[in-house]
Amino acid sequence: MHRIASGELYWTYALGDLRITALRDGYVDMPIGRLRQEGDRPFGDDLPKEVTLVGGQLRLSVNAFAIDDGNGITLVDTGASNAWHPSMGRLPQAMDKAGIDAGTIRAVCFTHTHLDHIHGLVLADGRDAFPRLARLLVPRQELGLFRTEARLARFHAMAEPFDAGDRLGAHVDVVGAHGHEVGHSCFRVSSDGESLLIWGDTVHVPSLQFDRPEVTWEFDDDQDQARESRLRLLALAAEDNHFIAGAHLDSPGIGRVVRSGGGFRFEPL
Ligand SMILES: [Zn+2]
Repeated sequence: MHRIASGELYWTYALGDLRITALRDGYVDMPIGRLRQEGDRPFGDDLPKEVTLVGGQLRLSVNAFAIDDGNGITLVDTGASNAWHPSMGRLPQAMDKAGIDAGTIRAVCFTHTHLDHIHGLVLADGRDAFPRLARLLVPRQELGLFRTEARLARFHAMAEPFDAGDRLGAHVDVVGAHGHEVGHSCFRVSSDGESLLIWGDTVHVPSLQFDRPEVTWEFDDDQDQARESRLRLLALAAEDNHFIAGAHLDSPGIGRVVRSGGGFRFEPL
């Protein structure tokens, strides 16, 4: 996997015969109290000094990823649109900069149904973001959650469930990663001997959770299961030499995982 183009808000890579584009929707700042150490305790003065803070807060990038196989483009997650802080919602501009016409997006896959991943289906003015969308793939366990989103009501009927282990086309299979949310899933994209694991919210705070993967996130629906999934995916990425792409890793959010000390280390590509 190597970078072939980049510009404001986007980074494009070759992965075998595929083109992968990291698209920056923006960022969100969170208090350090969202991090949870052993015993479900927040950090205070014991916050490790290597944790990067901006104005005393954790700054999480918000990224989506486009997979172009030459016949069409599949988008993994869609950013927040205008459903949350105004520091997000730049996906349409990112696609524009990257030369991706919204009309060429034929499929959208969600890693999970939190609002910073799904609301990009609609533009800030309420129009459809992807006018020729034909497939909308949602983790089976989260179809119900997705269908509570009133603003996305016109997409409820087209939502199509998938399960861990499913193949979604020639190059993509689903790796279960439940915990952060009840159906949280990763997409393994493979071509010509290379693999990329688009792993959603497996890591929220890269300056801490690679080194200490046992640290969880307040918004993890099931803290123990989220921790187990993170450890399993880190080991998978390190041992099977998968590239990873993270929704909240610093943009572009793509790199490799290597074992380091008792934990892991992220090496951005
Ligand atoms: Zn998220």
